[in-house]
Amino acid sequence: ISSHKLFDYVKELASDKYAGRLTGTEEYNASAEWVVSHFKKWGIAPAVSKNSYFQAFPIPYTLIFKGCEVYLHLPSKESAIKKYYQYESEFIPGSTSGSGEVTAEVIYVGYGATAPELGYDDYQGVDVKGKIILMEREVPVSPDKDPELFKKWRPYSFHQYKLENAVAHGAKGMLYNYGPIGNPNNSYDEGFIYSHVGSAVVSDVFSGTGRKHKNAVAKIKKTLKPQSFATGKVFTIKNITEHHHEGVGYNVIGILEGSDPVLKEEVIILGGHLDHLGRCYEIMPGANDNASAVSVIMGIAEAMSKCPIKSRRSVMFLCFGAEEQGIVGSGYYVEHPVVPLEKTLAFVNMDGVGCGDKLTALAAKNYPEFWKFIEKANQKYIHRVVNPRYFAN
Ligand SMILES: [Zn+2]
Repeated sequence: ISSHKLFDYVKELASDKYAGRLTGTEEYNASAEWVVSHFKKWGIAPAVSKNSYFQAFPIPYTLIFKGCEVYLHLPSKESAIKKYYQYESEFIPGSTSGSGEVTAEVIYVGYGATAPELGYDDYQGVDVKGKIILMEREVPVSPDKDPELFKKWRPYSFHQYKLENAVAHGAKGMLYNYGPIGNPNNSYDEGFIYSHVGSAVVSDVFSGTGRKHKNAVAKIKKTLKPQSFATGKVFTIKNITEHHHEGVGYNVIGILEGSDPVLKEEVIILGGHLDHLGRCYEIMPGANDNASAVSVIMGIAEAMSKCPIKSRRSVMFLCFGAEEQGIVGSGYYVEHPVVPLEKTLAFVNMDGVGCGDKLTALAAKNYPEFWKFIEKANQKYIHRVVNPRYFAN
């Protein structure tokens, strides 16, 4: 396996012609076709049907176009002053935002959770109807620090819940303190316009209110009591988007049959997601996330197909769609496996394997028996620093 060849695969998949590989788009489908053209060349068999490598599943998707803005209205006696924020370094339009413009006062709503059984409601005592909310990501409890307590908070940690709860309370817009990054793993509401923002926007919202953002967050975490308030700041969020409710996505699945007449019924899966974020609104190429893993899968597929030593068990090469939209493709595969799950012995999922000189084996400590094999192989052949981790969430 040549790293030069793998890097060429990454360059191809991250090129503009695939437009960031958002699942549901034609460009994503073209990238899937490109991977399949190589599988065919190497004699990797189609695994979905006799002739097909493509496992279709429904996936709504949202396109984001140029012209998205976030700005603050500064009070002034003369004329209105607008402070515009910088695309990408200070904000990125919400990847499932509605299309249009909202101008309103910003209400700080902490984590945006309404959890009666926990005696906690970020919306209590504030009116967000027609307003823009400023909201934190996740929940005030960490899965690593307090796994038992986190279990109770977990349902409130999902982007979908947080967005839908904001809409249910009548909010029209959201500044999501998520950092200026794209993330299409969220719900869509036609009338709800939002942006992912970083510290520049957050500190301007808090500026002059007599409160500090850092202290508000620390207080919620410490007391598990909301710190919501009307900030008096007026913002505009403008997004130009197009939602496609009836999208279709694909997992790409090829298989190399094992050499043992009995053991070939069992399968080992090498997988990783093929998709990325598409345009938000510039193309997000997704070279490391996750063209890198698809390239490694392709490299292994070619090497194994040409190797005179055959694996006794079958090996499946599985490139998922719609990981970025909420692990939809892999979820669909588990519900519709092409080899029964009882016959599926192991699955190595690769993500972001193209950067740095170390690897993290996430969830290795959840599966210590399996980890032993990988550790042994690493010590014998690969000699990389691989950190096994326990995955709590
Ligand atoms: Zn990824």
